[in-house]
Amino acid sequence: MTALLEVSGVSVTFDGFRAINNLSFSIGAQELRAIIGPNGAGKTTFMDIVTGKTRPDAGTVTFGERSISLLSLSEAEIARVGVGRKFQRPTVFEDQTVAENLTMALKAHRAPWRVLFWNEGPNDRAKVEELAQEVGLAEHLPRKAGELSHGQKQWLEIGMLLAQGPRLLLVDEPAAGMTLAEREHTTALLVEMAKTRAVVVVEHDMEFVRRLNCKVTVLHEGAVLAEGSLEHVTKNQQVIEVYLGR
Ligand code: ADP
Repeated sequence: MTALLEVSGVSVTFDGFRAINNLSFSIGAQELRAIIGPNGAGKTTFMDIVTGKTRPDAGTVTFGERSISLLSLSEAEIARVGVGRKFQRPTVFEDQTVAENLTMALKAHRAPWRVLFWNEGPNDRAKVEELAQEVGLAEHLPRKAGELSHGQKQWLEIGMLLAQGPRLLLVDEPAAGMTLAEREHTTALLVEMAKTRAVVVVEHDMEFVRRLNCKVTVLHEGAVLAEGSLEHVTKNQQVIEVYLGR
């Protein structure tokens, strides 16, 4: 499998405390990967590094077939080269319709001169419908985002991220607070999205990770403790000790 994201020997120290400790691993271009680990393992800091929010003290992070160094880019540039991040809480424009939210996301992604000189109205509508279809909101296009369920808001935000054409999507606890039916839809959506891009899911909920049925990376003390199927990593003695304190 060709690696899309390559993290190599990365360390981050906060006030003398090493939150990420010589972390190395890679993600394939069309891969669904779950990252798990106890509180404080470094999961959030890992996402902050990849998106340019936190700068490591050591190591390299490369992205794409031409191996762009993400560490030399700003947060905005990293988003532009194709890294999207979905935070845990949905941030949609509640007073706007689903269609308007998706249209705004499409426009925000475009270079300003294109918006000024090129009326892309009809194309926008087709693209918005396509995005809504992809995330399962085709029937909700005229509804205000504020009227959607929690799960639907999360899918709308995923649609807004997809409008930006990411090649890697980092998703933080996507199933938190969802009903069982919403979790099932979210699982199917993540699996489907990973057919055409890389999707990294940071998750606490092992039942949800099991449903994803993908390779799992276990982080502990800022490094990879184990990697493989969920079945494989949960048999690992060190992983058991870290989770159960034995
Ligand atoms: P996780 O997301 O796996 O719970 P984090 O990446 O949030 O872990 O944190 C890893 C470690 O780094 C934790 O011990 C946390 O307290 C510490 N940490 C994270 N961010 C900061 C910061 N800005 N300043 C100091 N310590 C931090």
